[in-house]
Amino acid sequence: MRDNGPWDDYGSRVISLISQKGGVGKTTSAVNLGAAFALSGHRVLVVGTDPQCGVAASLGYDRERLHGGLSSLLAGAGRLADVIHESSLPDLHFVSPDAWSLDEERRYKASLASRPQALAELLADARGDYDTVLIDCPPGVGPETRAALRASDAYLVPIQAEELCRGSLVRLLSAVANLSLENGSPPVCMGMFLTMYDTRTRLGQQVSERVAEDYGDALLDTAVPRTVRLAEMAVHGKPTVIYDRLAAGSRAYFDLMDEIVLRHHARIAAEEVVEAPRATAIAAAANADAPLPAARPSGSAAMARLIAELGAAAPGNSDGESSPIPRVAAPSGDLWPDGGSTDPDMVSLDELLAEEERRAHDGDDGDDYEDGDYWRAGNGSSLN
Ligand code: ADP
Ligand code: MG
Repeated sequence: MRDNGPWDDYGSRVISLISQKGGVGKTTSAVNLGAAFALSGHRVLVVGTDPQCGVAASLGYDRERLHGGLSSLLAGAGRLADVIHESSLPDLHFVSPDAWSLDEERRYKASLASRPQALAELLADARGDYDTVLIDCPPGVGPETRAALRASDAYLVPIQAEELCRGSLVRLLSAVANLSLENGSPPVCMGMFLTMYDTRTRLGQQVSERVAEDYGDALLDTAVPRTVRLAEMAVHGKPTVIYDRLAAGSRAYFDLMDEIVLRHHARIAAEEVVEAPRATAIAAAANADAPLPAARPSGSAAMARLIAELGAAAPGNSDGESSPIPRVAAPSGDLWPDGGSTDPDMVSLDELLAEEERRAHDGDDGDDYEDGDYWRAGNGSSLN
């Protein structure tokens, strides 16, 4: 473990990006946040666990260019270092599942399901070499996500600002609570954040209010805007944060990174946590095949309460069993009492994208930052 790194004496941080639904921006966030961290002095490993492997594509790799991945490691061949791939940033590396055919995918999932601790064991090696490991998960809480959470110190939940399904968010957090009970030590909720946020519609604002109502300060202040620049990342084969650092979407990811790091330090200070870094504990537990040590308090009091309540409410907990997706009732009430997407203030996404492209063409990217001011204010490099 590296001492005095960007996370101070906490050494490396392993953070999973999870969501119940697909298409909410997990992969986009993992890759762009990873690039933002790498450009700010961290050594970063992005671990794609989704067999669809958007991470590799986002970093300019197609199947032919990959030399192994998690699936080969799980099958017992080689070491993590053998399947780490480079990106166009020297400090940004990635690993993919490299499980393309249906058969390979089935075997990959079956290995993770039968040995849920295996990913934590594999990533224990990465903790010595990387400051920040971001695990991009597929939607839901299947074997990949469960293995990822076991390997993680913390998790982040992207929420698509155009659509909030409270029920699916509750199911996700409930499943995390169950896993925490299984493992004995919950990864900390680093926060939820909105993606594809559009300030010109009321929808994003409404979603933001609902999430804040339900989860309090677990909702991060930074919202990632909906921008064409982020959507076209895969076309460029580079995170937007690399090829257009001043785009509004890129700057949001630098802000998100700053907020995550500041919250980490605030949480540690507030709780006066005096303990060996969880990294050591996870590595030791992985090696000894022992249960993880007792939970440390979650960073957000509201979140900790919620997790405890959900854990207690989830079926199966009383007899020590847990189901992957517990049937916890979603909060009642009409989510969009005032009509939701039929609101006359709403414009269609196609219209928004067309408008954004028009503005980009005219040299106005439609955000609040003056480009020079942003960098003069020291944003995007405040970690060192
Ligand atoms: P997930 O990994 O959760 O399935 P992705 O990151 O793959 O989601 O994003 C789903 C789709 O939305 C992709 O086509 C991606 O390019 C696009 N997308 C993600 N974030 C944004 C954003 N902030 N603005 C515009 N498009 C986005
Ligand atoms: Mg994805």
